[in-house]
Amino acid sequence: MSNTPAFPAASLLGYPRIGRRRELKKAVEAFWAGTIDEAALDTAAQEIQLATARRLFDLGLTEAAAIPGTFSFYDQVLDATTHIGAAPARFGELRNSAGELDINAYFTLARGTVEQQPLEMTKWFDTNYHYLVPEIGPETNFAVTSNRIVEQFELAKANGFTTRPYLVGPVTYLLLSKASDDAPAGFSPLSRLEDVLPVYAELLSRLAAAGATWVQLDEPALVADQDVPVAEIEAAVARSYEVLTSAAQRPAVLVSTPYGALAELLPTLAATGVEALHIDAFKGAVPSAEELALLAGKTVVAGVVDGHNIWRNDLAESAARLDALKAAGLDVAVSTSTSTQHVPHDVDEETQLSAELRSWLAFADQKVGEVVTLAAYVGDPASAAGAIAEASAVIASRAAAAGVKRPEVRARLAALTTADFNRSDYAVREAAQEQSLHLPPLPTTTIGSFPQTSEIRGARARANKGAITGEAYTQLMKDEIKRVVDLQEELGFDVLVHGEPERNDMVQYFAENLEGFDVTVHGWVQSYGSRCTRPSILWGDVTREQAITVEWAAFAQSLTQKPMKGMLTGPVTILAWSFVRDDQPLGETANQVALALRDEIADLEAAGIKVIQVDEPALRELLPLRRAAQPAYLDWSVNSFRLATAGAADGTQVHTHLCYSEFGVVIDAIDGLDADVTSIEAARSRMEVVNDLESHGFGRGVGPGVYDIHSPRVPGQAEVSELLGKAVKHVPARQLWVNPDCGLKTRGYAETEESLRNLVAATKEVRAQL
Ligand code: GLN
Ligand code: ZN
Repeated sequence: MSNTPAFPAASLLGYPRIGRRRELKKAVEAFWAGTIDEAALDTAAQEIQLATARRLFDLGLTEAAAIPGTFSFYDQVLDATTHIGAAPARFGELRNSAGELDINAYFTLARGTVEQQPLEMTKWFDTNYHYLVPEIGPETNFAVTSNRIVEQFELAKANGFTTRPYLVGPVTYLLLSKASDDAPAGFSPLSRLEDVLPVYAELLSRLAAAGATWVQLDEPALVADQDVPVAEIEAAVARSYEVLTSAAQRPAVLVSTPYGALAELLPTLAATGVEALHIDAFKGAVPSAEELALLAGKTVVAGVVDGHNIWRNDLAESAARLDALKAAGLDVAVSTSTSTQHVPHDVDEETQLSAELRSWLAFADQKVGEVVTLAAYVGDPASAAGAIAEASAVIASRAAAAGVKRPEVRARLAALTTADFNRSDYAVREAAQEQSLHLPPLPTTTIGSFPQTSEIRGARARANKGAITGEAYTQLMKDEIKRVVDLQEELGFDVLVHGEPERNDMVQYFAENLEGFDVTVHGWVQSYGSRCTRPSILWGDVTREQAITVEWAAFAQSLTQKPMKGMLTGPVTILAWSFVRDDQPLGETANQVALALRDEIADLEAAGIKVIQVDEPALRELLPLRRAAQPAYLDWSVNSFRLATAGAADGTQVHTHLCYSEFGVVIDAIDGLDADVTSIEAARSRMEVVNDLESHGFGRGVGPGVYDIHSPRVPGQAEVSELLGKAVKHVPARQLWVNPDCGLKTRGYAETEESLRNLVAATKEVRAQL
């Protein structure tokens, strides 16, 4: 490259893709349902892209290449997969007659076929976004198989916007990939780097030909500890950016490194020919003077505005970080730490929130304003003085606002002793629970929710609109609970659930019923594909003004002689699936939630509930990306669960539920929760998890899921008894529970009844052989 075009002083790493009113979700789901055709889907997608470009331009991203080309129909990793020809062979030929992986191939990989499971989905770094895991083997036939990224650039350009196309970078792409089924043992996807790079180079050349001045290659894997040795990653980074920057025709290259500090890989990237390097200067510290010296000649794109949480930026603090970069003599541009795809569009939509709370928040659109202000600061510090003073004033008023710090909550936390985190020995509890529960061997139960039918959702929508009274709504929910209890009685379950019909969501429900939280109306963020969640905002000290679940649980218990399980969401999961305050350590916030749950458990016990499940499906989600930080995280997260549950009487059986089976680094932590019974996912891995349980010596109750609830498929009785037969070989029968993999809320009643019937029949069969 001769003459590098200037990198825009203000830009974003990425922007929400779903549309302000989830237009993309609606269009994509209509396309899947066959109610709109491909042309209509394209029209909808183009409207979203152009509306985004117009909005960002109006908000101040007016320079060329400032607007990120981060639109995606489903997932940015799947976008890379379909651009570089990486469709796994197990799907057969997915390329169309033009040799392209078109939108049908794209959704086939995302959603699977009758014969083939979709690509596996997993968490994107430490966020609640999930991507589709590429499957790479020795035979993967890399080639440019889509021109979509170029077409998207051209669409914006034709409408007057020069965007900055985005691709997941080659090193991150391969590090996030897994070996395909047909690969030999020990095969590493990174070994295919040399074959991938020419394809990326070709894409860059096409973008340049279309007029792109900058391209963004996203390399977040470089901020996370990997299983691959660092030296190998260094070599891959050096090689990748040597090849990509020596391409004859290409846009200038920005490498972005969101989600944490680049640390040991900064010098490697600094030594490459990339024109601009983004660093996460919000979560990561400003690099040292020696490191900064290595970056001379490049533009440093400072991600000082948090893309991952919703709090208004401390502009004074950001300005200080920018000063440190400027003092090193670097060419500095301003951006977000991560894509803003993790936050909602616009605070101004949330008119139901108090003006005070709103003043503390910055969603994606407000973050653009912050970036623009800070970019102006870099050019002329005086220009931002007013904005900086205002932000400081708001932050100070937030710290002093009512409800942010509640003395009674703080006093209670300060008075905790180790006794508050510990129950009696398991042997004592086990004996007490045998007395109180009288369960058969291999007790059967479910994970909590039963199908959320359209009647249930409809009733809730009507109640929210005021179209039915609160009493009418409660009665409808009680009718549903009775139906669920009767069904479980008829099926012959041992520990019953009430079915959770009254909950819109396992976190939001608690957020709505605890002080210290608020909920949004339009605050949707993409979780995966077309699925969006609406995280609550945890802004203040947490208190529980009255019991939350007790009335429902007690009603359900009144309908049966069998034990009814009380159902709560654990502190870590409540934090992980909310936007959490940033003004104190997460562990403190978790303990506040834990105390509220502890009080709820006491009230459930007082109402006669003898089994209480505290779900922690997100325990692994918040695991830090750097190994060095993991023990401290596991320590506070495990302790918050223990604080929530350790007040339970010996005879009260505490259950927990986790949605995954690859235990790895967390098996000690799961054991450390000290729950009496732990249910986990196991069916998709065909019960492999029982080997881990056995070698770990897991000593308390455990329910490895015997069927996968993520698909409508009904498991046969023989299939379930086979899995159970395998489980009893590795886990002593007296510890073993029988349950599905997860809650049933996304299923229909027909398949649920049949599956549960088979589950109970299989249990009886295996019990008879004990
Ligand atoms: N109790 C919840 C349910 O059954 C658990 C859901 C989850 O693990 N994600 O729906
Ligand atoms: Zn689950």
